[in-house]
Order: sequence, then structure tokens, then C-alpha cells
Amino acid sequence: MSLLDKTASELLADLEAKETTAVEVTTAFLEQIKKADETIGAFLSTRDDLALAEAAEVDRKRAVGEPVGLLGGLPVAIKDLLCTKGEVTSCASKMLAEFRPPYDATVVQRLRDADGVIIGKTNMDEFAMGGSTENSALGVTRNPWNTSRVPGGSSGGAAACVGASMAPLSIGTDTGGSIRQPSSYCGVVGLKPSYGRVSRYGLVAFASSLDQIGPIAHTVEDAALLLEAIAGHDPADSTSANVPTPSYTASVRQPLQGLRLGIAREHFGDGLDGEVDASVREAIKVFESQGATVRELSLPHSKYAIATYYIIAPCEASSNLARYDGVHYGYRTDEKAMLAELAEERKVLEGAGDRAKLEALDTSLVRMYRKTRSEGFGAEVKRRIMLGSYALSAGYYDAYYVKALKVRRLIREDYDAAFKDVDLIIGPTTATPAFKLGEMNEDPLAMYLQDLYTVSANLAGIAAISVPCGISKSGLPIGLQLQAPPFEEERLLRAAHMFQQATDWHTKRPN
Ligand code: GLN
Repeated sequence: MSLLDKTASELLADLEAKETTAVEVTTAFLEQIKKADETIGAFLSTRDDLALAEAAEVDRKRAVGEPVGLLGGLPVAIKDLLCTKGEVTSCASKMLAEFRPPYDATVVQRLRDADGVIIGKTNMDEFAMGGSTENSALGVTRNPWNTSRVPGGSSGGAAACVGASMAPLSIGTDTGGSIRQPSSYCGVVGLKPSYGRVSRYGLVAFASSLDQIGPIAHTVEDAALLLEAIAGHDPADSTSANVPTPSYTASVRQPLQGLRLGIAREHFGDGLDGEVDASVREAIKVFESQGATVRELSLPHSKYAIATYYIIAPCEASSNLARYDGVHYGYRTDEKAMLAELAEERKVLEGAGDRAKLEALDTSLVRMYRKTRSEGFGAEVKRRIMLGSYALSAGYYDAYYVKALKVRRLIREDYDAAFKDVDLIIGPTTATPAFKLGEMNEDPLAMYLQDLYTVSANLAGIAAISVPCGISKSGLPIGLQLQAPPFEEERLLRAAHMFQQATDWHTKRPN
């Protein structure tokens, strides 16, 4: 079996048994990136020499018997939304294409502390806004199962690099589905932790009350390993929860007795693809054969989830993205050209004696802001900033933003009620398998509707995971979603692992 076909846990066992070395493993994945990434485009940057040096250091520690961290020399890819000290953190935006943060995100620091080998940084929708990675300003990413299809998004590169065996583990972020949806499209496991489980310090903010960082891998066991490495309270993030982190690696293999699963009526309604429906129902039978009981329930406010999310997320984004002004850091418009343009406009207006227009002319500072932001942001990011600014403006604030916050509370209360009767909720991750590149470019609303089953977990702050559960007739992966109450990642992982014990969807690889 080639190193690339092994799961992270298998590779780790080999490393610990000294049957292979971290340098060998890292080399194998770097070679696979060279081979496959020309077609897939999952990476924005790779750290070939640095990664090999880090791997060599882990090998040295192991050889002399020094303690080795949890990740023991395994390569990890990181979504380019997490700050890496001194190394480009672009957020797939022209605005930050050359930005080198002065510090590491807490998650990056924890990966280093756990002896993970950071292999490269992955492509995404600009500032994580999107569901196909087509909003990246820096490149196209393709689905490894069918290169005419999108990998999903916004963590498209993160899911595609695992799907195409270019990394055994990767880090994504999920604000409304951005870990689970691409994981489902690329046939891998992706977990969105509960809000507060993982520190957001050093994660470039999209919507701060929704954003979470989480693991992507081939198996649930591997996701448990990576989650254990990154989770836990962080004084640098005031929203990170001060709760103990269980040892997910120790518990993931323990089956759950008497698991009570809920099926939300709303997750099986109009628009659900027949093959996805059938695969998820088949998966539910697998759980039943393992002793789970299933009952139908309702999440009555879930029909407002998309509308609520697409108010709250853009509102927070419009505020978070105000910092990109061309002054502090990041892209700035060409000032010489701008000043020349200003002088020219002034001359024309002076010649025409148009005093009103002369007075209304942007000053050089305002013009610099306007041009910087017009040129630095892509169309979707601008759309979100405009939507958010509008919904937060005087006169609309109560009608949109405050109302959305109230509905958000109702969505959370639906889950609180549901989890009184069931342990987990099971359903599809997405309504269809991966769609074609370009298919939704002209229709942002159709793209937003892709998030139908995923955004509620973020609005409610609960944990959720996507696990491969089928392959469509056209050869595209299908994913199921399990949702758990806040901070019940352990339950989520144990149940998902049980499913993988009884099925082999997670062993399938694209050609
Ligand atoms: N597709 C959703 C959006 O465009 C979710 C993005 C995310 O989770 N980062 O906002």
C-alpha cells in the first residue's frame, strides 16, 4: 500500500513503529502535490523545504527518544484564512495577496506544538464567502472526482487536497457550511466544532459569531486526532469556551449504545436530489442495524435559516472587512495614477467653472479608500459588504439585523427542544452532489440556497460533521450530516466512527 493511500492514523502508527519517517511521508505528499495539483489547484502555496526541515526535526526527536507531539510528523494543509507568521496569508483575495502576518494563529501554533508538518496553504472563496471556491481571486480549484465540477467551498482547497491524497489532514473553516459542504462534495470527512471549541485567534474574521475552525480528513478517527490537536480554551480568544477538551482519540472507537437519532422533516423536503435522499436513508438503516433508534422531528424555524444567515453573516462581514482600507496593511491603489486622475478631473471642472462638482470631488484620502476597496475586493465580497451595510444602516437595523438575531434564537431553541428527545440529528449535508464549475456564477441566490442544511448549525452554535455515505451514478461523492448539541463532539465522532466501521465509503478514492 502506498503511503498516500493510508489514513493519518495508519501513517502515525507507521511513524511510531519507525517503519517510515516524517521526511519520507512529507516527501510522498509533496510529490503527489507536484503531480496532481496542476489539475486540481488546491494549494495557493506549498512549503517544500520548510516542511521537510520540520519533518526532519520530528524524526530527530523520535530517533533520540525525545517526546513527540500528538501529530507526530504528519503533514497538515491549512486554509489560507489562518495567519502563519511571516508567510503569506492571502484569504484568496487580491487585498491580502502579499500579506505576511507578524504572528501565528493559535491553531497554527497548536499544530506546530503537536509536531504537525505544515505542508502548504489551500485555496478558498475570497474571505470564505462562497460555496464553490470560484470566488477565489487567486486561482481555480477543481473537484478531484470530476474536474468539471466544483470542489465546494469555501474550504474547497482544504477538502480537495485531502480528496486527491495531497495531504492526509487539513484545516478548514466553517461559517455556514464551509467545512461540511466541500467535504461532502470531495468525499471526505469534515467537522465543524461547536462555537467556542476551537480558538479563532489569528483566523481572519468573516462573521465572528459564526466562524469556527475544524478538521478535514479521510476518516472520523483522523478528524478526531486533528480536532484533539487544535481544540481547547485560549485566553487570546474571549469567545473560546473554557471547557475541558476530551481525548477524542481515546474515545472515538467506543461505540454508542442505544443511540437515539432524529430525522428532521425539513431536511428531506423539496429540492433534495433523489440519489442523495436514497444514500442518506440507506445510512440511517446502517445505524438502525447497529442498535440506533430513529424518530422523526421538526425544526420549524429552519425554513428561515438561509434568510437569517444571509443577514447576520454579511452584517458582521461588513464590519470586519472595514479594516481593509489601504492604510493599515494589504493592497493599496496605485497612488501616482490616482493623484494624476484627481488633478485631471479638477482641471476639467475648473475649466468648466463647475463649482458644485468641484466641491463634491473626493479628497485624495477618500478616493484612496474607494479605489483600494473597489480594486482589492471581488464581486461577492463587495455584494456582502453592501448587503451588510444596508441591513445595519439607520432605519433598517431593527427591521433586518435585530429581527434576524431574534430568529437566530428561535433556531437555537428548535435544537434545544429536539435534543431533549434525541442524541443526534441525521440528514443530508447538501441537497445535491457537486455542481459544475460556472453553473451558478450568474445566480448568487441559487448559490446561497446550497447552504440550506448547513447554516443552522452555525446560527445555533452546535457541532456538526459530514461523512461520506455514497457515490452518485455519475461518480460524485454524497455526504451525510450528523448534528450534535454544543460541546458534544465526542458523541458526534463516536457515532460517525460507528458508521465508518460498518461501511467503506471512506475508503473510496477518485481515479
Ligand atoms: N456558503 C456560505 C457563504 O457563502 C458559507 C461560507 C462559510 O462557511 N465560510 O457564506
